[in-house]
Amino acid sequence: MLRYVFSILAKPRLVDTDLLLCLISTSNTIRRQNVHSTPLYNTLPGDDILYKEEHLQMKDSLRKIIDNDINPYVDEWEQEGFFPAHTVFKKLGKAGFLGVTKSTEYGGLGLDYTFSLAMAEELGYINCGGIPMAIGVQTDMATPALARFGSDKLKKEFLTPSIQGDYVACLGVSETEAGSDVASIQTRAEKRGGDLIINGGKMWITNGTQADWMCLLANTRQGLPHQNKSLICLPMDLPGIQITKKIDKLGMRSSDTAQVFFEDVRVPQTNIIGEEGQGFTYQMLQFQEERLWGAAATLVPMETVIQETVKYTRDRKIFGQSVLSNQCVHFTLAELETEVELLRSLLYRTVLLYSQGNNVTKQASMCKLKAGRLARQVTDKCLQFWGGMGYTNEVLISRFFRDMRLISIGGGADEVMLSIICKFMDTLPRPPKVNS
Ligand SMILES: Cc1cc2nc3c(=O)[nH]c(=O)nc-3n(C[C@H](O)[C@H](O)[C@H](O)COP(=O)(O)OP(=O)(O)OC[C@H]3O[C@@H](n4cnc5c(N)ncnc54)[C@H](O)[C@@H]3O)c2cc1C
Repeated sequence: MLRYVFSILAKPRLVDTDLLLCLISTSNTIRRQNVHSTPLYNTLPGDDILYKEEHLQMKDSLRKIIDNDINPYVDEWEQEGFFPAHTVFKKLGKAGFLGVTKSTEYGGLGLDYTFSLAMAEELGYINCGGIPMAIGVQTDMATPALARFGSDKLKKEFLTPSIQGDYVACLGVSETEAGSDVASIQTRAEKRGGDLIINGGKMWITNGTQADWMCLLANTRQGLPHQNKSLICLPMDLPGIQITKKIDKLGMRSSDTAQVFFEDVRVPQTNIIGEEGQGFTYQMLQFQEERLWGAAATLVPMETVIQETVKYTRDRKIFGQSVLSNQCVHFTLAELETEVELLRSLLYRTVLLYSQGNNVTKQASMCKLKAGRLARQVTDKCLQFWGGMGYTNEVLISRFFRDMRLISIGGGADEVMLSIICKFMDTLPRPPKVNS
């Protein structure tokens, strides 16, 4: 096909408009071959590059659950500062959405990571950030390490019910004194007999007030901070676990965020995921999916914010004309739309590389960095064009302005992403060598 396009370009007798029309009709032919004649599914620009019919079918059935079982209740849950995770997850679990990439042996669909991307994108049609984030914790943040490295017994006990939507999972990495610096966590899990005795605490735990189990990162021995940690499946109803508060947040209001304390909590050592002492490495791998997922979940909300702003500014008349007709407004929206499309391209390439088994730590960090920065830009710039109306709780834009501010902080702040990219570029200064 490319050869055909080049041969047209080489024909000198074609005038510019002929050439353009010819190229447009050629590119339409290319497109038509890839998309449905009647658009059965919710498609986005670029869908046909990565997504095949199965992806689009999956997106379509997820959209039905969003429209029927989630969006009608979002305003109420945002106001309450809580959503019923067990009810929502059961619906998603029954339809197979909580184990898209997980092995069929444990109830998953056994699909590649492009399906996880499709799901994360589609969740962007939920009218808030909190519920997609809670779902993402279940599917792509608290369970990847268990699915990859956990024993058969642990997977049956914790993964299968999480995939089915019977269990709500949470991820316990951050602490009050250790967020960006994961290596410096203080929570200890000491070996005693065949058990672990856990002491310490975790901060900022999404799903924390309603979770059935936590994927906990704790120090299981003395030694180098990258080699002394383990990931542990921790049931949340054990004696000694205290969930002290639901944190009152700027955004993501329907998602509960808890602080959790552990005092002499006892679990069998067999609850360690994979090899003891490998927890830091497993968590770094688990972060890859968290970051890809986090970036993917921003695409649709950003597009929604831009489209809603187009509609509002087209209708809103000031100084005798629509707000949209000011060049600074429609040019800004065009810039933002272009940036979102660029992020989509980076993300699709990264996910494709990842689903082919490549290490994408650098690219995943770039996706997360760009998504966080762009989400701030899009919501801030668009909100400005709404004037006072954008500052009210009557409109979706103010909710996304608050919710999407988290992307630059949670799951590794922008500066942490920059440090990782610098490591891959070999530009991060190394600590000076200490003479012995
Ligand atoms: C709503 C919400 C939900 C969350 N959910 C979870 C969860 O489910 N599980 C979990 O374990 N954690 C969770 N977190 C924690 C989140 O991952 C941390 O907040 C994040 O990693 C940042 O850690 P910190 O808040 O301790 O900030 P700090 O580590 O104190 O960092 C503060 C700031 O310092 C700057 N900074 C950091 N590193 C560098 C650097 N190298 N160079 C220059 N500047 C730097 C950044 O600007 C950063 O924002 C959640 C947080 C929030 C707010």
